[in-house]
Amino acid sequence: MNNSKIWLSSPHMGGSEQKFVNEAFDTNWVAPLGPNVNGLEKDLENYLGNEAHVGALSSGTAAIHLGLILLGVQAGDTVLCQSMTFSASANPILYLGATPFFVDSEKQTWNICPVALEEAIVDSIAKGKKPKAIIAVHLYGVPYQIETIQSISTKYNIPVLEDSAEALGSSYKGQQCGTFGDIGVLSFNGNKIITTSGGGAIVTKSKEIKDRAVFFATQSRDNAPHYQHSEIGYNYRMSNICAGIGRGQMEVLDDHVGLRRKMHDFYVELFKDIDTVTVFTVPNDDYFSNYWLSAIVIEPNAELGIDREALRLAFEAANIESRPLWKPMHLQPVFESYPYYGNKVAESLFENGLCLPSGSNLTDEERERIAEVVKSFFCAK
Ligand SMILES: *Cc1c(COP(=O)(O)O)cnc(C)c1O
Repeated sequence: MNNSKIWLSSPHMGGSEQKFVNEAFDTNWVAPLGPNVNGLEKDLENYLGNEAHVGALSSGTAAIHLGLILLGVQAGDTVLCQSMTFSASANPILYLGATPFFVDSEKQTWNICPVALEEAIVDSIAKGKKPKAIIAVHLYGVPYQIETIQSISTKYNIPVLEDSAEALGSSYKGQQCGTFGDIGVLSFNGNKIITTSGGGAIVTKSKEIKDRAVFFATQSRDNAPHYQHSEIGYNYRMSNICAGIGRGQMEVLDDHVGLRRKMHDFYVELFKDIDTVTVFTVPNDDYFSNYWLSAIVIEPNAELGIDREALRLAFEAANIESRPLWKPMHLQPVFESYPYYGNKVAESLFENGLCLPSGSNLTDEERERIAEVVKSFFCAK
């Protein structure tokens, strides 16, 4: 039997990526600007709707960094950040010399908990420092509690940076993720739902803000014949080569969302009779997830030898990649000295949660191999 590695999430080309890349070579647009960059931005603006303005950047992390700058975050400021996420959501807070306050997750969407968020805001204000921004994440493609978080943002007048790096193609009440926050962030890293090999984008509510982001991303060059700078700049623009890959990927985005959602259905079916396992699923029909990664929570049973780690090792023995959920930021050595608000929901998800192979390019044979591991793991118990 074929025993080649089954990955959690690997790049999946549609076919026309190379055509756009070749065009870039043929016209010698091998630069961090050009027709593919403009084309990808247009494609994303059309896809997101809602009068979104998009700036293509070198990574999602760069988009978060510039997003925080645009929201006015400076050294010494406080920024609230969902604890359960990838470190890239939080690192740019530190790039700016600001302080992260980490906020727990709620159990429905695994994203930022409104109760803990409000507690953090009230506490910071009481200590004399109103937070500058809220970083909320759509984990694994599942939208956060959009309306509740929005109302807290409005109540305290603190802007939201919407980290939609995992959620291109997800939506809430028909509105695309990426368009809810004051600033939205997308990622096209190699493991994301579509890829430009590496890249990201910032989503803004006006052309002026997008232009400001692009200005910062291209070394903050003033309008002058010589190189003139009045502000600190960054080299964060996407290259025209990468954007060519992105234009090809945009043609297959909805197909890939459909295929990822089929992987989620596959796991729902596979685990339906195993009552110690819950497949992470949206709370109701207002939520539409791209199910970038399918994830499960396992109720540990020491007597039967069932827990997250035992199942992970069973997959590993079959050359199948699976991975614990994101380790919360407030538990990371690099961030553990910063404040945390919540009730250890994220901690318990991290203890018992596992991400499973979710790629849009998995084959029937690979699904069969995954099913065999699950069946023999749970039946042997
Ligand atoms: C991938 C990811 C990012 C960072 O995107 P890059 O393009 O890899 O820099 C940020 N936040 C979350 C939640 C992510 O999953």
